[in-house]
Amino acid sequence: MHPVVQTAKPPDSRHSPHPDPEAASRLCCDCGFCCNGVMFGRVVLQALDSRETLRAIGFTVKRKQKQSFFTQPCIAFNQGKCRVYEQRPTRCRLFECKILQKVVTGEWKVHQALHAIEQVQSHVQRIETLLNPAGTETSHKSLLKRVGDRLSDWEESGEIESAKNLQSALDALEQRLEKDFRVI
Ligand code: SF4
Ligand code: SF4
Repeated sequence: MHPVVQTAKPPDSRHSPHPDPEAASRLCCDCGFCCNGVMFGRVVLQALDSRETLRAIGFTVKRKQKQSFFTQPCIAFNQGKCRVYEQRPTRCRLFECKILQKVVTGEWKVHQALHAIEQVQSHVQRIETLLNPAGTETSHKSLLKRVGDRLSDWEESGEIESAKNLQSALDALEQRLEKDFRVI
């Protein structure tokens, strides 16, 4: 996976013919989906990632099924930036979503990518409104986890119409993420 964010994941200019690396750096500050729990629920650590260092800088590193990971929304994500940018784990260093790739290679202009970000933001907003109409709840879980929990609650309590609406809002978000953000 994953993320970025700081001023962006600056493309590596040492071996990059990217026509627009500076502009690409604007995207991540306006986005944050790969850090804030919209795209991912966890960041799996790789062999070279120091668990001790991550713990020392505040991460709760968990272990399950032989994988070490921390959950999202990431505790280091703050106002569109990664506050541990220099120490971010491998997956964060390597991840570039589709729109970022398209901008750094010149396939897309920045405004097209910003438009895609806005589209996802409106899907997320729709889901947030369904989950939390009063806007008063706070949660440290990823969006997908929150939706899953709510769907189970509503299905159990027979609120089928509400569950259908939420599922459909989630499907629309996932389609958009798949189209413009997720990489294999
Ligand atoms: S999803 Fe893409 S544009 Fe958004 S913060 Fe992550 S790498 Fe940057
Ligand atoms: S450490 Fe957290 S905020 Fe930083 S890039 Fe990784 S997921 Fe994003």
